[in-house]
Amino acid sequence: MIKINENFLKLEQSYLFSTIAKKVAAFQKENPDKKVIKLGIGDVTRPLPSVVIEAMKKAAEEQGSAETFRGYGPEQGYDFLREKIQKQDYFDRGIAIDIDEIFVSDGAKCDTGNIVDLFAEDNMVAITDPVYPVYRDTNLMSGRKKIIYMPSTAENHFNPDFPNEVPDIIYLCNPNNPTGTTMDREEVEKWVHYAKENKSIILYDSAYEAFVEDKNVPRSIFEIEGAKEVAIEFRSFSKTAGFTGMRCAYTIVPKQVKAYTEKGEAVFLNALWNRRQCTKFNGVSYIIQRGAEAIYSEEGQKQIQENIAYYKENAKIIREGLIKAGFTIYGGVDSPYIWLKVPEGLSSWEFFDELLEKANVVGTPGVGFGSCGEGYFRLTAFGTKENTIEAVKRIVEKYCQTR
Ligand code: PLP
Repeated sequence: MIKINENFLKLEQSYLFSTIAKKVAAFQKENPDKKVIKLGIGDVTRPLPSVVIEAMKKAAEEQGSAETFRGYGPEQGYDFLREKIQKQDYFDRGIAIDIDEIFVSDGAKCDTGNIVDLFAEDNMVAITDPVYPVYRDTNLMSGRKKIIYMPSTAENHFNPDFPNEVPDIIYLCNPNNPTGTTMDREEVEKWVHYAKENKSIILYDSAYEAFVEDKNVPRSIFEIEGAKEVAIEFRSFSKTAGFTGMRCAYTIVPKQVKAYTEKGEAVFLNALWNRRQCTKFNGVSYIIQRGAEAIYSEEGQKQIQENIAYYKENAKIIREGLIKAGFTIYGGVDSPYIWLKVPEGLSSWEFFDELLEKANVVGTPGVGFGSCGEGYFRLTAFGTKENTIEAVKRIVEKYCQTR
């Protein structure tokens, strides 16, 4: 008899985005003349930079010729891309990373999910509440039972205190999804020291680092001294370069970072992750990696910066509009997410319904990211500028009058 992995039965059904879709469809059916604007899902709307398209066309041509055709590539990624990452994302910012500490992949979602393969089932895991749900669910799927939820609310400025029990695995997302807030250098440093003292590991998701302007906010955890001994960093081209539909990311597993056997012997994780990737992964498509490489040219950098500036301008429009309408808001400065406090007396879902009804604008109820997200609401800056301006105008009109 075939048996299932019963850990899957422990997962809560994720109704968040399907419930949103159903509610929007029902509203649209009843109000076919209303134009609903969606600022809910964190997907980009700008087309890919032209440098990426040109590079991929060229790579596709190469694949059509016997002289330049390439089959399976290196599981860790092609050196042409890893060298650019090494130089421009790290070396030029004062961080020394070896090329074989860089693992190119098809997404930070996969990597943050797959990394749990390396750790024992009885490890204690700390995640923030609210949280990017992948961290929680992938640990539950692989049978980890000890999960500490660290409340992350306005009261602690969205920077949770150390938990009462010492975790083995600590997830930090900076800039944060969903709250759009950031941890500064001092705060990240605190966690690095804590991890060192307690022989824990930090899984540091910096998928949104490209949005950081504040010099006090690290763009990489490896800006912090000693972090290489205790941290793994996840990066993505999704939000930086519009690659959500292309699939390309990378993970840095420093050679110093280690975990321990039952007997207390240190094992280096770089070799383990390499083994895991070579066994379960066959690398990212050559064409996609050439596309990713193109963003590191001077013109490529200019084009991606234009897109990031576009989204940051949207974030500013949302922030300023919501403040004008009387809302308390967080994030949206070094991040594409705006986290707002829903009006007194309403739950996250009640506010969702009200906003849809009154302003025909869709966002994401904070409670969908964890119980401490109740009373909050996420809007994203990834829409088009026209839609963002229109959505904010409607919110200002409706809420300035009635609240
Ligand atoms: N990490 C965080 C915090 C995210 O919000 C997202 C996507 O929304 C990802 C990772 C996924 O990135 P990728 O598209 O590279 O899988």
